[in-house]
Amino acid sequence: MGFIEAEKLMKKYDKKIAVNDISFSIEEGQVFGILGPNGAGKSTTIFMLSTLLKPDSGDILLNGKSMVTKPSLLRPILGLVPQDIALYPMLSARDNLNFWGRIYGIRNKNQIESRINEVAELVGLEDKMNEKVGTFSGGMKRRLNIAAALIHKPKVIIMDEPTVGIDVQSRSYIISAIKDLNANGATIIYTSHYIDEIEALCHQVAIVDQGKVLACGNIEQLRNRAGVKEKVIIKVEETGQDIAKLLLEVKTYFQDVEVNEKEENIEIAVDNVGSKLTKILNMFDRNNLRIAEVNIEKPNLEKVYLNIIEKKEEVASVSNQPKIN
Ligand code: ADP
Repeated sequence: MGFIEAEKLMKKYDKKIAVNDISFSIEEGQVFGILGPNGAGKSTTIFMLSTLLKPDSGDILLNGKSMVTKPSLLRPILGLVPQDIALYPMLSARDNLNFWGRIYGIRNKNQIESRINEVAELVGLEDKMNEKVGTFSGGMKRRLNIAAALIHKPKVIIMDEPTVGIDVQSRSYIISAIKDLNANGATIIYTSHYIDEIEALCHQVAIVDQGKVLACGNIEQLRNRAGVKEKVIIKVEETGQDIAKLLLEVKTYFQDVEVNEKEENIEIAVDNVGSKLTKILNMFDRNNLRIAEVNIEKPNLEKVYLNIIEKKEEVASVSNQPKIN
């Protein structure tokens, strides 16, 4: 059983189905990414996970107990970073964090002070605490917005596109803060339009579209699901070597392999290339082919994501074809 389990979630707004039978499981201490195009149902799912929105049907379990029927199970341990900034521009950064500390029920003055210092350092704003938020750049406001959600040391952090439209420096502060929080044991649910961020941060990713989970797993599992293979590119030492025998041997030995010859580069695309590399290199050796360079290319999450979304569209367009009797 996972720490947080979404079970067959459904949510409609009037007649529009926003979330249509979504299930996934999140382990404690994971960074879990939700990735999908605009309108896929990410925010609706995030609102339900945050207990701000009730599903029409389905359930969300925290350690096996329904937080749909009992939101108070999650709320004290939740830090929610919404897309919209929830800060007072006329107050200093310190007073804003003080305000949020009190909202989250921290009454002890010293405790609030020490938490303000910790979260300010985490997001790299320790020198700006006495300045008015109205003078901050967009990126600094986003960093403070995150700090506000962390003031009560939540065990579960939900972040809805925390890096949208900000400068590179703020983005890098936020990414390293998320890594720190996770290294200290927080479970993090994260949505972003930036696939490279999801790839760098998340242990598991749910790819959603039109209210459904198309695929869920770690990047290796998603690669397999998308059917995009890893590739080893082996450059032989000089042109003119006879490689026909090698190509035949590779194609005969491995199932489901694609082999391409591009000048002196031989590209072999196969699943789990790492475990097959010794065998492949031995084949080169047996065929007296001298190797100049070996490179492994692993398809990144963007390629995997596009492949999964496109495959779905292909299936949809085939099933929408008029039937010919
Ligand atoms: P995402 O966050 O992936 O962009 P959303 O969860 O915001 O997706 O939206 C999912 C679908 O539900 C979209 O088609 C959107 O237009 C619709 N939707 C979202 N919020 C509302 C609302 N308050 N009223 C009506 N439709 C909505």
